[in-house]
Amino acid sequence: MQRLPFEAEMDMFRDAARQFFQKEIRPHSERWREANIVDREAFLKAGEQGYLCMWADEQYGGLGLKDFRYEQILIEENTFHGDPGYFITLHSRLVAPYIEHFGTDEQKERFLPKLISGESIIAIAMTEPDAGSDLAGMKSRAVESGEDWVLNGSKTYISNGINADVIIVAAKTHANNPHGITLFLVERGMEGFERGRNLKKMGMKSQDTAELFFENVRIPKKNVLGQVHGGFYHLMQGLAEERLIAACGNIAAAQHALRITREFVKERKVFGEPLSRMQNTRFVLAALDAEIDMAQCYVDRCVQVHNEGKLNSVDAARAKLLTSEINGRMVDAGVQLHGGAGYMEEYEICRLYQDERVHRILAGTSEIMKEIIARDILD
Ligand SMILES: Cc1cc2nc3c(=O)[nH]c(=O)nc-3n(C[C@H](O)[C@H](O)[C@H](O)COP(=O)(O)OP(=O)(O)OC[C@H]3O[C@@H](n4cnc5c(N)ncnc54)[C@H](O)[C@@H]3O)c2cc1C
Repeated sequence: MQRLPFEAEMDMFRDAARQFFQKEIRPHSERWREANIVDREAFLKAGEQGYLCMWADEQYGGLGLKDFRYEQILIEENTFHGDPGYFITLHSRLVAPYIEHFGTDEQKERFLPKLISGESIIAIAMTEPDAGSDLAGMKSRAVESGEDWVLNGSKTYISNGINADVIIVAAKTHANNPHGITLFLVERGMEGFERGRNLKKMGMKSQDTAELFFENVRIPKKNVLGQVHGGFYHLMQGLAEERLIAACGNIAAAQHALRITREFVKERKVFGEPLSRMQNTRFVLAALDAEIDMAQCYVDRCVQVHNEGKLNSVDAARAKLLTSEINGRMVDAGVQLHGGAGYMEEYEICRLYQDERVHRILAGTSEIMKEIIARDILD
């Protein structure tokens, strides 16, 4: 099915983005995967191209591009030609918008220009060893003390956790209300803020995913982001877009895995004929092709609705659930159809299998997506 149209300038933007990922990112992928971290310079390079926080106003150095399709194009081109651990969308579109939406003018002026240029890298820290899906269970706590808040606690699995210069940290601030959470802008070098291990992962190996520790960190009140005790609701407001971003990436990865597998099965000969002539190959890939095509239509429609400001959390959950599950089936079938080659890291399908597994867990697990949808249709 033909996708919803992208305008001519978006096609040009896509061509430029493709070249950027092919030239500036892919050649470093192997080294980054071994180091479990990307070079900070790669953020500066994206900043020079204008790819970071494209939505931001020109007064801060942004491009003022509100159309989500530009971000969708970046996500797709990174998936096809870049590196999944170099996930600038996390910095640009998942985390930095909290400053735009809930920050004071002073905070916007202080943080946005460097986030847009790539001089500064941002992360968000919600998850704790005992609180992931159930954020209300978090134990990190901050108490008011004169002109500051004093933060204690720990976070884990934090993307960009090593590279980040500024981290939005969620902590409990209300003694009785489990949803009484506040967001704090914790900056590199604050006393009592330590980074733990850069965690070894199954996939997305080039992204730094870290533990963070906070011991009596004094955070000035000017670094409170949004409403005191309002953090839980601020986080909820970003979820539809977060899930749409995940859906765009999932379906792009599924498209990519299908393409790679199609090429492989046409070349690979078994019992004297191409693997692509075997009925099993044909049926498996035909069924996945149909699923991917339908899901792409749904994702593109969600992007359109999001551009109108009307994407609701249930439709975003549907998109995230569907695309992550299809993506999971596609990379699994891709490995199977590659045979032993599918288990070898030198084949891209092997890496896709490792990298994509996380997407049924990240940004809300599949079970949480089902809960959201079930509540909508059953309660
Ligand atoms: C690579 C990676 C990067 C990450 N980056 C970040 C980051 O930058 N910032 C951040 O804050 N967090 C980050 N996370 C954390 C991520 O958001 C959590 O791992 C995720 O939300 C799941 O939480 P959990 O790990 O505590 O699992 P749990 O919530 O303990 O879930 C365990 C299992 O229980 C199921 N479950 C939970 N609740 C229900 C329910 N109500 N009904 C049925 N089943 C349920 C889950 O679906 C899952 O199968 C990252 C995680 C990974 C793996």
